[in-house]
Amino acid sequence: MLRFFRSHLAWKVFLSYVVVVLVGVIVLASATRFSVPAAFDRHLAGMSAMMSGDTMMGDAQPLELELFSNYQASVTEALSLATAAALIAAVLASFFISRQVVGPVQQMMEISHRIADGEYEERLKISGNVQANQLDELDQLALTFNQMADKLEKTENMRRQLIGDVTHELLTPLTAIKGYMEGLTDGVLAGTPETYQQVHSEADRLQRLVNGLQELSRVEAGAYQQRLESVSAYDLVETVVSHLSRQFEEKGIRLGIKLDEGLPNVTADKDRTIQVITNLVGNAMQYTTMGGSVVITATTVKSDVVFCVTDTGIGIAADQLSFIFNRFYRTDKSRARVSGGSGIGLTIAQALVKAQHGRIWAESAGEGKGSSFFFTLPVVAEKQ
Ligand code: ADP
Repeated sequence: MLRFFRSHLAWKVFLSYVVVVLVGVIVLASATRFSVPAAFDRHLAGMSAMMSGDTMMGDAQPLELELFSNYQASVTEALSLATAAALIAAVLASFFISRQVVGPVQQMMEISHRIADGEYEERLKISGNVQANQLDELDQLALTFNQMADKLEKTENMRRQLIGDVTHELLTPLTAIKGYMEGLTDGVLAGTPETYQQVHSEADRLQRLVNGLQELSRVEAGAYQQRLESVSAYDLVETVVSHLSRQFEEKGIRLGIKLDEGLPNVTADKDRTIQVITNLVGNAMQYTTMGGSVVITATTVKSDVVFCVTDTGIGIAADQLSFIFNRFYRTDKSRARVSGGSGIGLTIAQALVKAQHGRIWAESAGEGKGSSFFFTLPVVAEKQ
């Protein structure tokens, strides 16, 4: 019961009014009990003295009037006392209410001003018990406000981090291009086709980075048309294999497929899913050396089809596995940079799979032991 009162502001307000009314009633009741009878007694005594003396019966009228006016005076006295007591109770109750309501609202206003000025660390104090869920409406508002401040702080940190990352990523090829150009101008570098080729490949990397960022921002904002339809899992894998098999041959890496028989269709955006598989198979090819192999499998697990791309390549250390889907993350920065990787591909793949109600993750037995990339897509629901 107490818990119920504690967690409802309306009840607190109601209770404070009840207190005011009760104080008024109690004072009024005790005043009528003690002061009105005393006044009555006084007047009745005066009246009987007059009636027992030589007062004429005709004078009874003024006595009655006096009795009535004294009765009125005592009631007024009682009412004044009750009013004074109720006023004091009202002042106390409004003080209590303003502490409960106005205080937190003012604090919220101050903190929201500070957040608007860029100070994201401030949080509101919550007086109720969050664990026991004993929160009134103001506590709940404070809790939501704090959650909003958490999100704003996180977004702001991500924005800062992104600007830092992008600047760093752009700076590397730009510095290289500038270095080549200065070398050429000063005559330190010979203007050979190789030098121009180096400049071109740095510019090419810049372009890929900008394209990747553009794609990522579109995918993360959901600003692309997603066409979910019933798609054959075989077709998805076959399309990617036919696109990439020549490159695998050139690199001397075997590419195999192992698909379950009777694979059901999945609900997916065909082009986007091909993009995801191409990215995973492309990475597998990139991080596997000549003589290695890459296998694409697909199996049905409950209401999902699980696609997997396994390679015998460089593998991923256990402590890096959880980071590889973060933007710009590369396990071996220098090697990936040389191979032109920007660390955005897996971030895009993750966003695309999530948008299609799937999950994506990676497993590896460790460095040098190959890796497996999995993602799921929901099986097409059968029509009833
Ligand atoms: P990148 O363009 O650098 O390949 P990705 O987002 O596709 O960017 O991959 C992020 C990082 O994850 C890569 O730089 C690499 O370190 C690691 N990675 C991805 N796929 C594999 C793989 N098949 N084997 C080993 N490491 C991988």
